[in-house]
Amino acid sequence: PISITDPIEEHRICVCVRKRPLNKQELLKKECDVITVPSKCVLLVHEPKQKVDLTKYLDTQAFRFDFSFDESSSNEMVYRFTARPLVETIFEGGKATCFAYGQTGSGKTHTMGGDFSGKAQNASKGIYAFASQDVFLLLNQPRYRNQNLQVYVTFFEIYNGKVFDLLNKKAKLRVLEDGKQQVQVVGLQERQVTCAEDVIRMIEMGSACRTSGQTFANASSSRSHACFQILLRQRGKLLGKFSLVDLAGNERGADTSSADRQTRMEGAEINKSLLALKECIRALGQNKSHTPFRESKLTQVLRDSFIGTNSRTCMIAMISPGMSSCEYTLNTLRYADRVK
Ligand code: ADP
Ligand code: MG
Repeated sequence: PISITDPIEEHRICVCVRKRPLNKQELLKKECDVITVPSKCVLLVHEPKQKVDLTKYLDTQAFRFDFSFDESSSNEMVYRFTARPLVETIFEGGKATCFAYGQTGSGKTHTMGGDFSGKAQNASKGIYAFASQDVFLLLNQPRYRNQNLQVYVTFFEIYNGKVFDLLNKKAKLRVLEDGKQQVQVVGLQERQVTCAEDVIRMIEMGSACRTSGQTFANASSSRSHACFQILLRQRGKLLGKFSLVDLAGNERGADTSSADRQTRMEGAEINKSLLALKECIRALGQNKSHTPFRESKLTQVLRDSFIGTNSRTCMIAMISPGMSSCEYTLNTLRYADRVK
């Protein structure tokens, strides 16, 4: 765990946790809420069966993060403390990344992509939309207005080690690495956007593409990583890049003992990519010269975001509050704890 006295390394890496509320089904089943967020940085996991004295568990079950968000926090609030501080980075020529990590159903897509299926607009925006909105806000400030900056977005999915373009009918794309270790996703569509509404259209389009044509949409999206990128170009040349990643459900990494060969392979791939991601973020935090980005397609594609002096990252660990999710929740918290 991160101790209070640790300097926050100029916030190069920020690790947060967000607890979602118990949903209708869980309430109907009278699920116990086993998570408490006593202060803005602390989170407790308690065992309801033992009628606990919380302090008894402080040593083993209390986790300390840069921020802990309880079930009353909104997407906007979470955004403000996680991705928002990283928006300037791309205007300074840097790379920013924000990851949503957690079990399927814990709120990754809700937090990142939001929901545009008819609810009130503002309440349903996610981090993709809030970040884009702020990019345009900054772009129109006097200090950037005459800098000849253009904004583009890309949206793709990594499924079982393969890359698919969500803004181009799920076209399968090749990833190439040149002699200078520059990684390129060949043919990835970059769509120019000139206002926040443009971006929302792209998010809707890509999200629909992500879940289309599949009977078990969530089952499939739980096995893929979705990456939404905001690219800032200056006279055509890439200045900065913000990658916002909705990761595959971490419980899928445990599918390695499944009877089904395909599921087993997918599980192994997810496991590999989440482990590689952790190592790459750690390498960034510790200023290590070696970044093990080649270990997975996800880290390979994000390579340039893990190196360089002006790269910053934020991980949001999502957790379900129910007793039945306890094991996965602890896995998520342990992973997040080790990232930093
Ligand atoms: P994941 O992408 O991690 O599998 P989702 O984002 O799809 O999970 O969330 C699962 C369900 O829970 C969705 O119906 C979503 O709207 C709801 N949900 C998630 N987080 C919250 C939250 N903080 N507040 C209210 N509902 C939430
Ligand atoms: Mg999802």
